[in-house]
Amino acid sequence: MQFTDENCFLCGTTITKEHRTPVFGEWMQDKYNLRNKELLMLDKSVTTFDQLTIPCCDQCHLNHVLPLESEIEDAAKTEYDGICTLDQKRIFQWIGKMYYGMLVTELIKEKDPLIMPENPVSENPQMLGKFKTFYQVLQSLRVPMKFSDFLPCSVFILQVAPTEDDLPFEYQDELTTMCFSIKLGPVVIVCKLLDNGIIRNVLNRLYKLTEDRELHPIQVAEFKARVFYAAYIFNVVPDYFIRPGKPEDEQLILDSLIDDITNEVFNPFEPLAYAHMLEEMLKPWSIREKDILENPQKPISFLTDDNGEFKTIKQFAK
Ligand SMILES: [Zn+2]
Repeated sequence: MQFTDENCFLCGTTITKEHRTPVFGEWMQDKYNLRNKELLMLDKSVTTFDQLTIPCCDQCHLNHVLPLESEIEDAAKTEYDGICTLDQKRIFQWIGKMYYGMLVTELIKEKDPLIMPENPVSENPQMLGKFKTFYQVLQSLRVPMKFSDFLPCSVFILQVAPTEDDLPFEYQDELTTMCFSIKLGPVVIVCKLLDNGIIRNVLNRLYKLTEDRELHPIQVAEFKARVFYAAYIFNVVPDYFIRPGKPEDEQLILDSLIDDITNEVFNPFEPLAYAHMLEEMLKPWSIREKDILENPQKPISFLTDDNGEFKTIKQFAK
């Protein structure tokens, strides 16, 4: 794992500066007209989607990155149904690549920042440990690898109703909590990396309620807030081990352990902190913290009613 312009992001081979791969696949940039769209980085510099590339050797680009992108592109043609049939390991690798691409870009920028960020990621030793662990499972994109009985992330796939949806594409990431969401037309994928599916289990009941339903964008925003907040209070980092194998084995088998004895898996839920997260996600609707916490113990919900059943929202008056 090296954050330089001279090493392939995936295999580490030394390369020259011309060998790069886009963080966001070319097909996606074309389909959603992203090439010249601007992105604000942590050091306040501005870049565009097509400038956002990471060092990648030809071998990794041709054999590992492009096939993955074309698999996702194919699936995205049939929107929700297509994305749902993808192997979740491929979704992990795809989101993992974009996440890592953003991370590498931010870390390279931190070496020579426009404006020094308040909490530079590269100066946080705990974060670096977490990234190294993540890098191990990201290698599954290149090295044949089977995850024994886990997926190294939580994936949620949501479907947005067209009525009040005016965003063809959207993406959001939170580098420190390793949370990522991306909207491709009517499909939103939300992912927390490196939790071994724990958040997926915790939010299982809510997630089941959304299955095969078209959600109003405000409901998607709340769902994202729930996942991003859960990632924020998630308190453990899994350990991954390569199972000892024989020389003739065709793939590595990875086992995983989470230490939930010396560490609580989640820090306590704090309604106020959650309300801030939700307020951030609800910005387009100008719903403020005081509305969210009208009942201080029970933050407002657009997904479920008082009985915990799914709430149908067709239109929402701003
Ligand atoms: Zn490579």
